[in-house]
Amino acid sequence: NELASMMDVSVTQIISTCMSLGLFVSINQRLDAETLTIVADEFGYEVEFVKPQDEEGSLDEADAADTLVPRAPIVTIMGHVDHGKTSLLDFIRKTNVIAGEAGGITQHIGAYEVTLENKKKITFLDTPGHEAFTAMRARGAQVTDIVIIVIAADDSIMPQTREAINHAQAAGAPIIFAFNKIDRPGANANKIREQLAGMNILVEDWGGKYQAQEISAKTGLNIDLLLEKILLEAELLELTANPNKRAVGTVIEAALDKGRGIVTTVLVQSGKLRVGDPILAGCYSGRVKALTNERGQRVEEAGPSTPVQVLGMQGAPTAGDKFNAMESEVEAREIANKRLQLQREQGLRTQKHITLDEIGRRLAIGNFRELNIIVKGDVDGSIEALSDSLLKLSTEQIQVNIIGKAVGQISESDVLLASASDAIIIGFQVRPSGSARKLAEQEQIDIRLYSIIYDAINEIKAAMEGMLAPTF
Ligand code: GDP
Repeated sequence: NELASMMDVSVTQIISTCMSLGLFVSINQRLDAETLTIVADEFGYEVEFVKPQDEEGSLDEADAADTLVPRAPIVTIMGHVDHGKTSLLDFIRKTNVIAGEAGGITQHIGAYEVTLENKKKITFLDTPGHEAFTAMRARGAQVTDIVIIVIAADDSIMPQTREAINHAQAAGAPIIFAFNKIDRPGANANKIREQLAGMNILVEDWGGKYQAQEISAKTGLNIDLLLEKILLEAELLELTANPNKRAVGTVIEAALDKGRGIVTTVLVQSGKLRVGDPILAGCYSGRVKALTNERGQRVEEAGPSTPVQVLGMQGAPTAGDKFNAMESEVEAREIANKRLQLQREQGLRTQKHITLDEIGRRLAIGNFRELNIIVKGDVDGSIEALSDSLLKLSTEQIQVNIIGKAVGQISESDVLLASASDAIIIGFQVRPSGSARKLAEQEQIDIRLYSIIYDAINEIKAAMEGMLAPTF
C-alpha cells in the first residue's frame, strides 16, 4: 500500500506485479529490499534505501562554531597478545589523581576517564584490541580519536601488531607507538623502530611523523611521557564538542544486571546527559534513572568524552549503537519501535557493502570513487606483487586503496575490517576460515579467491571498467 502510494499506482497493480514474480502478498505486507527494487523497477522507479538513522537526521544537528569547547581525547589501546595492553591500562588507571582523592573502587565498565596532575583529562576505552574497535566501527561508530599500539620491545612486530596498525590506519586514527617492557634485559626498542621502518612507518626520533615512547607498563617508567604525547596529539587534533545540548554518543557495553536491570555504558560525545533524560539507543528507549561513573559513584550529569553507566534502558542496545537524549520518552519509544520493526523485517541486510559486480552500476550512478581492498595470501612476495599491481589500476575515476595486507587465511577480523571500511577481500592461494565465511555472508562482504595473480588483476580491472559480467 505504501509503495503504491509512493509511486502513485494502484495497489492491485503492485500485487499483480508481485504475483508475476511468484510472490503472493497482502495489502499491508512489507516487502524486502530486493523485491522493492524489482517491483519499483517495473514501474520505472529506482529505490534508494535510507538508514532509519538518516531519516531521523534532525536528531543530530550540526553545532555552530561558537558553541564548541575543547574536549578530552578518547584513546584505544591495541597490540599483540601479551605485549602489555592490560598492564598499561591498569597502570594508567592507577595514576588517576581523582581516584586517589575521592576513593571508590574502579570497576570495569568498558571505558574510564583519568585526570592527570595538570588537570587535563584523557578517556580510555578499556576493551583493548582491534576486534572491539573495528566491530564498533562496522556499526558506524567513530569513537576513538587516538590509537596506542603497544609493542613489546623484547619481542618483535607480530601478526596482530600488523593487524592493529591496519585497522587504525583504515579508521584514519592517529597512532602513537608504545615500546613496552623496556625494563626487560632483552628489550631492544631500536629493533622495533627498524621493523616499523620496514613497513614504511617512521617514528619521530627517526625523523618520521609517528610519536613513539619507550615505557614499562610494569614499573610505570615513562608512562607520564606517553600520556604527555597523547595530550600533544590531542592538541593537534583540536578536539571540540558542544556541551550545551541534549547528549549524543555511542554505546560501549550493555548488560543485564540481576539487581539493577539493564546497565548500559555510554560514551557521551557531545551535549550533556542528565538524570531524568529520555533516551534512545539503537532499537531501545528508556529514561535515565541513575548515572554512575567507573568508580561506582552517582553523578548527576556527564558531558563530552565522559563514559558513564546508565540505568533505565528498557532493552540492551549493542556496542557501537548510537544514543540520543530525547525531548520526550514517547518520541524515543516510537523511534525505537520503528527501528525494531525495520530490523526484524530487514534482518541484517540494512548495511550494503560493495561487491565487484556492483562497481559498474555504482560507477554509472557516479557515487563511486574509491575501491578499498584487503589482500591476504600465502607468501609475502606474491602479496606485495599483487598489491602493487592493484594499486597501479587506479584511474582518474577510481582510486584503489590497499587497506590491509598480510600472510594467512582470511579471518573474521579481516571481514570486520572490510565491513567497517566497505572493502572487498582478495585471497591469493588462501581461503577464509569457517567463521570468516559465515560472517562475510552475514555482512555481505565480497571475498574473491585466486590462484593466479594475473586473473586477480584482470578481474578487478574489468570490474573497474564496469565490464564485469554479473555472476548469478
Ligand atoms: P596483553 O595481553 O597485551 O593485555 O598483555 P598483559 O598486560 O596481560 O601482559 C602480558 C604479560 O607481560 C604479563 O605477565 C605482564 O605482567 C607482563 N608485562 C606487561 N608489561 C610489562 C613490562 O613493561 N615489563 C615487564 N617485565 N613485564 C610486563
